[in-house]
Amino acid sequence: MDLEAAYTVLRERGAPAYRVEQVRHAVTRDLIASWDEATTLPKDLRAALADAAPATELVLDGQQESRDGTVKARFATADGFPLETVLMRHGDRHAVCLSSQSGCALACAFCATGAMGFGRSLTRGEILEQLLWAARVARGRDARIRNVVMMGMGEPLQNLDEVLGFCGLANDPDGFGLGARSIAISTAGWIPGIDALAAQPLQLKLAISLHAPDDALRERLMPVNRRYPLDQLMAALRRYRAATRRRVYVEYLLLEGVNDRAEQADRLADLLHEHLPGGCHVNLIWYNPTAADLEASSPERVERFRAALDRRRIPQTLRRSKGADIDAACGQLAVRGAQEARQRRRAEREPA
Ligand code: SAH
Repeated sequence: MDLEAAYTVLRERGAPAYRVEQVRHAVTRDLIASWDEATTLPKDLRAALADAAPATELVLDGQQESRDGTVKARFATADGFPLETVLMRHGDRHAVCLSSQSGCALACAFCATGAMGFGRSLTRGEILEQLLWAARVARGRDARIRNVVMMGMGEPLQNLDEVLGFCGLANDPDGFGLGARSIAISTAGWIPGIDALAAQPLQLKLAISLHAPDDALRERLMPVNRRYPLDQLMAALRRYRAATRRRVYVEYLLLEGVNDRAEQADRLADLLHEHLPGGCHVNLIWYNPTAADLEASSPERVERFRAALDRRRIPQTLRRSKGADIDAACGQLAVRGAQEARQRRRAEREPA
């Protein structure tokens, strides 16, 4: 949903000023899925909007609901790139996990999206539309979206302009009205993006996918570490904290026998005490199986790792991701969708 394109239609038709607000409210509050539903607008205007600024650009390819209440949507962009969006329920609170790109260029070893390669970055309108979908599903449960995490497909800091444009739309108090602190951006460690985030005014949350406390291991798991090794990354996080005074969320995926030894917890604690003293929170994540040759840590090893962090007074939370039974959990997004979309594009290029 490209709101700017909708406003352009209003301007070009010389519509009265109050129409801008009606359009914004129809999209972000009434959550229209089609301009026909925007009954505050005259019919000819609705038709013009449907033409130039379709209420839905993404094509919903399918929707699955998990036993735990998680709902995953598979979308395709108008030009055929697949993406996925996940609505999560924690009690009566709903959060949505959005994709910032179709596919991802960073190729982290444990991530299914990484294995599918890069498609393209999504526009702010395509990102907003995922939120509007989730808000409609939540509305069907008499609930609202409380939190947004940019933890679906893609590296949000490689698409920063559009991601920030989206955050502005989601945050607009006269629109969707989500607090900036309720929006989290997660990065594999794209330093230029971290510096750019530190310099902009919205008080967004920053999460950093660390997953290893030393360069040799981190490089193996996350090729981006070759470009931006840990000393540079930690220096960028220090700058971010100095500029914003905000806490940094550190994500650490526990992989059996790879990064889950007690010494590695100590190493992690050293790093965090040195560079983010009193200013971070570690989220330990269970590994969700992908095609990668890796295994989730056993519950005993997870407990040992947690205990080691506790001894070092590093605040931490263990997160179990939702929706694994429908491949909606962290790192599991869109392998199948990607294959199908590639086939579809190939078929279009080479008509039988
Ligand atoms: N590119 C961004 C955001 C997308 S990934 C980033 O790297 O942060 C969102 C989170 O899911 C990241 O912490 C990522 O490392 C984690 N993740 C990836 N694959 C996973 C898997 N198989 N199991 C659990 N978490 C995974």
